[in-house]
Amino acid sequence: MSNLIFNFNSIKTKKLKYPKNILGGKGANLAEMGRLGYPVPSGFTISTKVCELFYQNKKNLNNKIKKNINIEIKKIENEIGKKFGDLQNPLLLSVRSGARVSMPGMMDTILNLGLNDQTVKALANITKNKRFAYDSYRRFIQMYSNVVLNIENYKFEELIENYKLTKGVLLDTDLDENDWEGLIRDFKNVVNLEKKMEFPQDVNVQLIGAISAVFLSWESNRAKTYRKINHIPSDWGTAVNVQSMVFGNMGKNCATGVVFSRDPANGNKEIYGEYLINAQGEDVVAGTRTPQYITKKSRKKSKLNELSLEETMPKIFRQLKKILFSLEKYYKDMQDVEFTVENNKLWILQTRSGKRTAKSAIKIAVDMVNEKLISKKDALLRIDPNSLDNLLHPSLDEKSSFEVLAQGLPASPGAASGKVVFSSEEAERLNSIMQDSILVRIETSPEDINGMHAAKAILTSRGGMTSHAAVVARGMGRPCVSGSSEIEIDYEKKIFKIKNKSIKEGETITIDGSTGRVIFGEVKTIKPEISGDFLKVMKWADKFRKLKIRTNSETPNDTKTAREFGAEGIGLCRTEHMFFDEDRILSVREMILSKSKADRDKALSKLLPYQKNDFIKIFTIMKGLPVTVRLLDPPLHEFLPKSKEEILSVSKSLNLTSEEVEQRIQELHEQNPMLGHRGCRLAISFPEIYEMQCRAIFEALVNCKKNKVNSILPEIMIPLVSTEAEIKIMKDLVIKIAKQVESESKIKLKFLVGTMIELPRAALKAKDIAKHAEFFSFGTNDLTQTTFGISRDDSAKFLNDYIENKIFDIDPFVSIDDGVGSLIEIASEKGRKQNNKIKLGICGEHGGDPKSISFCSKTGLHYVSCSPYRVPVARLAAAQAEIKK
Ligand code: PEP
Ligand code: MG
Repeated sequence: MSNLIFNFNSIKTKKLKYPKNILGGKGANLAEMGRLGYPVPSGFTISTKVCELFYQNKKNLNNKIKKNINIEIKKIENEIGKKFGDLQNPLLLSVRSGARVSMPGMMDTILNLGLNDQTVKALANITKNKRFAYDSYRRFIQMYSNVVLNIENYKFEELIENYKLTKGVLLDTDLDENDWEGLIRDFKNVVNLEKKMEFPQDVNVQLIGAISAVFLSWESNRAKTYRKINHIPSDWGTAVNVQSMVFGNMGKNCATGVVFSRDPANGNKEIYGEYLINAQGEDVVAGTRTPQYITKKSRKKSKLNELSLEETMPKIFRQLKKILFSLEKYYKDMQDVEFTVENNKLWILQTRSGKRTAKSAIKIAVDMVNEKLISKKDALLRIDPNSLDNLLHPSLDEKSSFEVLAQGLPASPGAASGKVVFSSEEAERLNSIMQDSILVRIETSPEDINGMHAAKAILTSRGGMTSHAAVVARGMGRPCVSGSSEIEIDYEKKIFKIKNKSIKEGETITIDGSTGRVIFGEVKTIKPEISGDFLKVMKWADKFRKLKIRTNSETPNDTKTAREFGAEGIGLCRTEHMFFDEDRILSVREMILSKSKADRDKALSKLLPYQKNDFIKIFTIMKGLPVTVRLLDPPLHEFLPKSKEEILSVSKSLNLTSEEVEQRIQELHEQNPMLGHRGCRLAISFPEIYEMQCRAIFEALVNCKKNKVNSILPEIMIPLVSTEAEIKIMKDLVIKIAKQVESESKIKLKFLVGTMIELPRAALKAKDIAKHAEFFSFGTNDLTQTTFGISRDDSAKFLNDYIENKIFDIDPFVSIDDGVGSLIEIASEKGRKQNNKIKLGICGEHGGDPKSISFCSKTGLHYVSCSPYRVPVARLAAAQAEIKK
């Protein structure tokens, strides 16, 4: 059983041997804290390996494991002098999940396990606190029934709410032992009615049920969704931590809370946290009672009257602060600690690296370098590149006028506008039709995770900075305002009221998660910029990385943004995207639909000045840096006219009848346009198209030179090449036009000709292709599509099933698959063999994905190219890849 179950104590004397992949994050840190002598309640961790065995054994724990669990329980009994199921002094347990990385609120927890109709009496006796004992028992029945027996929680909550109404009280804390005793009877009836069984009284049955349920929660829908969003592999599994209970709900000398060693929202070096007197852990995060602050300073800042822990329990506060700082120093990272105070004794239930906003991640990393706690390399590794996306969120334009409806807590930064929705389903529906929504809930629960992902921002009327809504929104990078207690939400009527105003579902509001403001209507936002600590981190990243970062851009605006974000050139300018404008599309349609070369030339001559002017603008913005211009590569169907008016308009310009145009559309119809007449195949049939484009590029170059805009480095890229002959013909075409423009302008032109590698054949025959190409750019969107034979346009319909069935861990269109990766390696090697100066880059969507960037770095590519807003992400990811080598 050596790597299946670990007692916190057995690891005490040894240097920690078992990493997080076996003990889970929570288990590893509990063991480590135990070893270092922190006040951790006794317990043990059932490893992630058991999770694997559990699923292999048809979702059952085998007898050997059950036996070992009993042995571990005995050890706890000996350590603390209580007995599991005892009628004098019963041991109660908590059973919690603990995956390798923390997945807040996504899996299950059961507290107060070991209570039944008999042990509850013993607990009441020994603590001389009947109210506490019965309150704990009803909590246990509620949690166990929900988690293990799958009875919906509202069935119990409703009973409590109705009972409070009859009794005429508001708070759960107003209910006494007799009230809870009565409610327990009702709770057990619910179990009986729903499951046709008695609530389990055997504590061993309870324990095995709870452990199994935690393992099962690894495969719950919410955990699966969370894993998908955060790219967590499904085969990691979870560990389970079984610990003796300590109680924060025994009375006024008891409390429970969460505390961070630095402020998770802004990174300031100040303790930040929340707690509740006379409560159990879940009360703080569930948002059912609004918690109080830990420090006097934050209490005063928020103008709350309820006293902080610093004021109510000053001694505990000092002790907690000391532990918090020493844990931070030990782990060299900002810590998020859960604690409980039982009759004036402090217990630490968990420590982990605190989730933080991108802004605070950067501040903390820079501060810790200044404090000499970590190195610059460590600092760079601490920041999740994907999270930088959030810093690039727009913020409110404070100069515009707007009406602030309400104020809440600034739980997750960024500003967003959208239509009010009250359910996750509605948020998902609007998202599917490309409409922005703001999810408005009294509080969120793990069931809301899909809706939170689909919405642009989240607003809750209850809950603090560590509520579910706040933690999950921060993790997802969604702006969130939590605990906006002035708003009154009515789910039935689908409205929320604030002061005298009522806001209906579908009306637009704006959320400012950086200040906590809730605003009526849409507000203008402003573009972010890289400055301060962010700029510092980017500069550090630039020092470490070897990969160059380029951008995919075809408009002057995007090109400017990308350059401001640090792009070192354009890796892909999709020229077909330059034709989408209304005034150009007609000429493109004429070009595509024309039957004769003469008609086509006419249409092309109309497009030439547009192309040329666009290139002049883009070259000027990117001067001094390379610009890869890809010649036309549209699946033609994207450009064909569809509506009657569109067809009429093309037929007029082409002097054809509508019927003739429709007939031509029929002729051009392709069963499989993605594999059809696109890319260089188009230019094999109609070379005049690429000739016009090359002329536009070269004339733009001449124009720039004449205007003293020098150091323009165009790289002309041929798409969808699969054979040596194709690239040879295309290269000759490019050179022919270059010569023409050189002789017309008397200016010598400098440029490169290269190709995309986006078809498996091109990758396999890269040596031949490299004879005619000065660079390769891997088009991993098409390369993934053609390697798998999975249409990139239709894959979304079934890829989920592939992820569910563990065929794919991650969508291969998001992160480079290793089969596609092999083709890239083969092509790079063959390309280099033919031409050791060949430039290698990637321009598919993968160019902005940190995992794929790491692969590109290992494969020795020279650059990655991504969308403008991913450039800072790629700069950091490229540095991390280099540091990790
Ligand atoms: C690619 O296929 O990866 C690529 C960048 O080209 P496009 O997405 O335009 O087909
Ligand atoms: Mg492509």
